[in-house]
Amino acid sequence: MANSKYEYVKSFEVEDEIVLPHVIVVRLHARDFLRFCKAHELRRPYDEEALDLMNSCAEFVQRKYPDILFSYGFNDEYSFVFKKKTKFYERRASKILSLITSCFTSVFVDKWKEFFSGRELKYPPSFSGQVIVCATVDVLQHYLAWRQHECYIANQYSACFWALVSHGRTEKEAEDILKDTKKQEQNEMLHQQFNINYNNLPKIFRWGSCVLLMEVEAIVKYDNDGCPVKRLKKQISTVHSQDIARRTFWNQKPSLVKELGSFVEDIKRIDKDYIKYFQSEAKLMPYTWAVIRIDGCHFHKFADVHKFEKPNDEQALKLMNECAVGVLDEFREVIFSYGVSDEYSFILKRSSHLQRTNPSDIVSSVVSLFTSMYVMKWKAFFPLTDLVCQPSFDGRVVCYPSTEILRDYLSWRQVDCHINNQYNTCFWMLVKSGKSRSDAQQILKGTQSQEKMELLANNFGIDYNTIGEMLRLGSSAFWEEENGCSKIVVQHCNIIDDGFWGAHPCILA
Ligand SMILES: [Mg+2]
Repeated sequence: MANSKYEYVKSFEVEDEIVLPHVIVVRLHARDFLRFCKAHELRRPYDEEALDLMNSCAEFVQRKYPDILFSYGFNDEYSFVFKKKTKFYERRASKILSLITSCFTSVFVDKWKEFFSGRELKYPPSFSGQVIVCATVDVLQHYLAWRQHECYIANQYSACFWALVSHGRTEKEAEDILKDTKKQEQNEMLHQQFNINYNNLPKIFRWGSCVLLMEVEAIVKYDNDGCPVKRLKKQISTVHSQDIARRTFWNQKPSLVKELGSFVEDIKRIDKDYIKYFQSEAKLMPYTWAVIRIDGCHFHKFADVHKFEKPNDEQALKLMNECAVGVLDEFREVIFSYGVSDEYSFILKRSSHLQRTNPSDIVSSVVSLFTSMYVMKWKAFFPLTDLVCQPSFDGRVVCYPSTEILRDYLSWRQVDCHINNQYNTCFWMLVKSGKSRSDAQQILKGTQSQEKMELLANNFGIDYNTIGEMLRLGSSAFWEEENGCSKIVVQHCNIIDDGFWGAHPCILA
């Protein structure tokens, strides 16, 4: 397809490939989990259904992406460890991070009713994540030891906290009582005041959960006498182990040792420098326009499976717009967004405080919230179609140094919308008129915009310029002042020319 003069903006996209021999770990956790727990009345200090749901999502993700060898999760977080030589998404950090976060979110929302029947989701849950790059298996071992240690600390605290609250303390009082207490003191408090032996609490709570490929005995058939015939079968399963970072656990898993290496010795003390490294965060470049662009993953297939109308399914586009509105509503730093087909771009305010936070967090959060809403709102837009596979999106963030270049970026997307829509309209009209797909491709090869207009007019009596604005121009969602109050509007307008920006001077101020 034709290139436009705006394509140069692509050169601002930074390369974020994680080179070998580094091992890629994606860690994600729920955003504002406290609020989510309260709104959905999750049990304290732990809700086994919620933990089972998290594990079920991790198993799903691992089944879908076999390059993930091992995952570890507790409470509201999960870490996914990829095999060392993975080629997943060409090892591009932001794509891997966003896709895994999106997939996890999608399944979480979809499976919610399986685990919490009769309890509706009150709002779309979302996750944010980061990529941890481990240069050696020793770094990975430290990472796992650190997370499992955090699991222990967090859950012991939580057990004490909720014991205090259930015995009449306010949350603030419980916090004050526990401030600066050590492991031993908390253990004694549980034991002496509440008669709870921490070590007797469920393993899933104390140790967290691992998802990995295990050899399990499975019934493969029944013999003539009706007796089950069992064989060892490889299967993705969840286990709870006290010491995931110890040799006794890790080195006995052939698949982990083969793909990631064995642990040489047990960790006596978690190195502080490693923890500092795991927590280190990059920042977006200040005083630039940061754009988060998300894109549906394998949406051709998704569209086919759900019988989207060709060349454009208006309901699907409206669902995308609805999700974008939700993103603008939640992230007030997003001042403008533009969407076409299965992609959406979100522009952050230039002085945005989000820019002081890290790019991983903002990309994963936006992708996750968008995905979450897409699944939750599906039925409102497709009441007669069940969601048969979970949609997922990937995302990236790119910083543009000037308003002029940002506008070129938006022009690039709108020109793309026009080129694709014109081509697709012709293509599907030809196919619907009886041409084979390859014939239609052949007819359109090398044609210019004008020729396509003529083809539509002469063969099908269609004046391209009368086709719906949403299809020709894409959708812009942004905040607008109306009678003194601001609200989010969705419009289909020309964002290449100066007219729109002149009429809305505040957006890119
Ligand atoms: Mg796509």
